[in-house]
Amino acid sequence: MTKADLYTAVAACRAQYFSSPTHDLLSIQRACQTRLGLTVESGAPFKTPGLRGVAFINSNLICIDAKLSPERRRFYCAHEAYHFIFHANHFQRFNCFDEGHPTQNDYLEWQANEAAAETLIPYHLLLLQVQAGAPHIHNGRHFHAFLKESAQHYGVTLTMVRTRLNSLKYEIVQLLAGTAIDNIRLLSDTQQLREGIHVKSLNQIYTDAHVQYPLAQLGLTLSA
Ligand SMILES: [Zn+2]
Repeated sequence: MTKADLYTAVAACRAQYFSSPTHDLLSIQRACQTRLGLTVESGAPFKTPGLRGVAFINSNLICIDAKLSPERRRFYCAHEAYHFIFHANHFQRFNCFDEGHPTQNDYLEWQANEAAAETLIPYHLLLLQVQAGAPHIHNGRHFHAFLKESAQHYGVTLTMVRTRLNSLKYEIVQLLAGTAIDNIRLLSDTQQLREGIHVKSLNQIYTDAHVQYPLAQLGLTLSA
């Protein structure tokens, strides 16, 4: 499944399962319960280091690490929900860690992560925000303000917005180079590598809060 296919499938899932306001933990949890028939235990006392969420496919149960902030529990709730929606035939149980883990299937985890991220922060909305905000971002401080505003808007952490900007870096370069949002090619990191595409994300451009970085760097890397 390509990134474009995945986002198309997620758009249908958002409409079908997650159409209510999704800016708080309860709404995602409620959607899992009422629309997907799942039980969500969002305060599970996990002891395994790095374990953040578990999907028990046969018991229709999602458990989320109690130690996480509400924003991160919300993300993992959506992540586990997508294991039920997309992957119920693959495994009976998904143990999901906050970083890569030898027991995980990287491809299925990528799908669940991208799907959860696209559910909470739809790419076309974030691109519109980047389009409107980019002319006013001249340094790291402005960029940080942009991140903060975006995180508040979507009810997610700053890190989640940064992760999203990384995973949409090629799409953002196309946008800032003048491509209309509807014509932007969605490409995963793997597909970009395959095509020899190397671009920087906004996070990489604005790494220092005090030094000014011309946004044109993105254009330069695009033509490289
Ligand atoms: Zn997972």
